[in-house]
Amino acid sequence: MKEIRKILVANRGEIAVRIFRTCERMGIATVAVFSDADASSLFVRRAEEAVRIGRAASRESYLVMERVLDAAKKTGADAIHPGFGFLSERPEFVQAVQDAGITFIGPSPNAMRAMGLKREAKLTAKAAGVPVVPGYTGQDQSTDGIAAACKDIGYPLLIKASAGGGGRGMRIVRAASELSDSIESARREAESAFGDGTLIVEKYVERPKHIEIQILGDEHGNVVHLYERECSIQRRHQKIVEEAPSPLLSADVRAKMGADAVKLAKSLSYSNAGTVELVVAPSGEYYFLEVNTRLQVEHPVTEGVIEALDLVEEQIRVARGEKLRFTQEDVTRRWRGAAIECRLCAEDPREGYLPQSGRVVDFTFDPKIASLDWLRIETAVESGDEVPVHYDSMIAKIITHGTTRTDAIQRMRRALASLSVQGIRTNQELLESVMVHADFVRGDVDTHFLEREAATLLPERPSLLARAAIAAALHADAMHVTRVTPHVPNGWRSNRYAPERSSWSEGDRKVEVGIVRERDGSFVVTAMGDADSPFEGHLDRVRRVRASHDEIVVEGSDGHLTHARIVIDRDRTFVRLEGRSITLHALPRFPDRDADSAVDGCVAPMPGKILKVLVENGATVKAGETLVVMEAMKMEHAVKAPHDGIAKEVRAKVGEQVDGGALLVVVE
Ligand code: ADP
Ligand code: ADP
Ligand code: MG
Repeated sequence: MKEIRKILVANRGEIAVRIFRTCERMGIATVAVFSDADASSLFVRRAEEAVRIGRAASRESYLVMERVLDAAKKTGADAIHPGFGFLSERPEFVQAVQDAGITFIGPSPNAMRAMGLKREAKLTAKAAGVPVVPGYTGQDQSTDGIAAACKDIGYPLLIKASAGGGGRGMRIVRAASELSDSIESARREAESAFGDGTLIVEKYVERPKHIEIQILGDEHGNVVHLYERECSIQRRHQKIVEEAPSPLLSADVRAKMGADAVKLAKSLSYSNAGTVELVVAPSGEYYFLEVNTRLQVEHPVTEGVIEALDLVEEQIRVARGEKLRFTQEDVTRRWRGAAIECRLCAEDPREGYLPQSGRVVDFTFDPKIASLDWLRIETAVESGDEVPVHYDSMIAKIITHGTTRTDAIQRMRRALASLSVQGIRTNQELLESVMVHADFVRGDVDTHFLEREAATLLPERPSLLARAAIAAALHADAMHVTRVTPHVPNGWRSNRYAPERSSWSEGDRKVEVGIVRERDGSFVVTAMGDADSPFEGHLDRVRRVRASHDEIVVEGSDGHLTHARIVIDRDRTFVRLEGRSITLHALPRFPDRDADSAVDGCVAPMPGKILKVLVENGATVKAGETLVVMEAMKMEHAVKAPHDGIAKEVRAKVGEQVDGGALLVVVE
């Protein structure tokens, strides 16, 4: 039996944090390795020790075996957990770790080698008696050789890079006319992306489901499966929602898939955690795809349906040489309920899932939801953290479980709605739409679901701009950070009819909010769009129930309380209202509604009455010269020329009541 006292995690982000948590629970010390881009990342803060291993680009840090090994030696780590991605499936790395006398937490290099290439893996699976997708795995890699084999397979078919992974290097071919071009371009891509141009061809299974079986083996020949995960909700062949158990899977097919996965694992003398991936046709027939010889991103879904299971703990125990602590029957006894995982990614689903980077200004779950035992949050970030451009776009995983699938889905809806993530774009809204989509709710999805339903999943939702701006203005007023009248002390009011105005924009839409405080402490609020972005005005009499630095609660005239979360970051105000996020820009001064955009001149610094107009149209004025005198709160205010020029247009009229920000004189 090997002892493990200190584990180095050769990974970053949420998975490093997650592994550290199990280490802490087991009393094992932790070491992080990090690149320049991750120096202030959450996972580095969470580790007891950390070692910088190179530049931001993965190939200069997380992928450099010697640096990771040096860090382990330097810190006296006696084991390395590779997480997923990066070095996790590299047999040379496992070998180097073991040669250095360090325990690798994962399968043997031999098992990895056997499963590393899709071609060899398929041959191994076939030999073990596991059904594989009909296709071509031949030696002849010439275009003609592959094309000849495709005649027997039939269309549509899928060309895959044998060394491919992460959903890359695949091409669907629907007609013979596209075949040779597809083979050649797939080969070129495989050579440049994976350094290996070997291709395999498979019959393309239409409307397939992706179902995978979690396996766990020890070094004593014991293997169990931990049931399945359904991962059909994918974009670009990459999963974003996973669940267990798979809805609509018959008990019979489930049992066969589990037995096949165990059979394959035993044929490889597989130890530690792994996943057998399968595609399932609508008929229920299933075929082997590949084995991922590592912990999987979506492993928490399995932990959600098997009582008291921590897969990382089991991985560590197996790596120490312990025997599995449960039999297949034990697993079945502990298997209950349903679990769902949503991957929150920094990406814009409306822009072809373009990855986003930058500062996550806010990452906050409603605390009364976050503390509930049905919610699990695996996050790479906290409020204020950066998402670097160099790595995967996944920033957090949200996992819920329940007695039934319906319970787990309902809880996921609540969890997503109670998350405020601001500062960068994410797929949060897309995930929320998936959770209410009728096909998903029925459990009837295949791997094309997202593509097919894109339009319904990303509808243009009516903007909450007016209501968000009102909440922001009432909040600013309460916090005395109002920019409305910079020359006037906070709380200053000319009279109760003169509204306090503020202007806000969201994208190219603008809104001006007016707030009038009534004698009884309520407010009359108005919101109006400008000429370029007209929208229905909004008028209400509201009460500000409470306000704190990040929250405001407003009671409408109908007695309905609205909670808004408010996060202010420089000139941006993020409002989370009714489960929607609105990013407002506070406009530095209110543009006058009837002024041309770039005219300069003097504006009323506050609402008030015009007492004197001291300038005539066409007069030459000097900077600082008093042009207009206003009265507000029984005090006179001189409005002065901002610079030398000509008084082009005098709008102010003696005796007139003007709003704050009204243009009084145009000075050119
Ligand atoms: P999995 O197969 O674990 O469900 P995917 O299929 O989405 O995950 O992942 C595709 C590839 O990208 C895998 O090699 C996985 O290890 C890697 N990967 C996924 N997410 C991350 C991440 N956040 N950081 C590093 N690598 C990742
Ligand atoms: P990777 O190593 O990139 O994860 P996989 O072989 O696991 O490659 O396939 C990734 C995804 O592509 C699967 O989850 C599935 O959605 C789809 N896919 C793979 N093979 C087939 C097939 N023969 N028919 C239909 N879809 C497939
Ligand atoms: Mg795969």
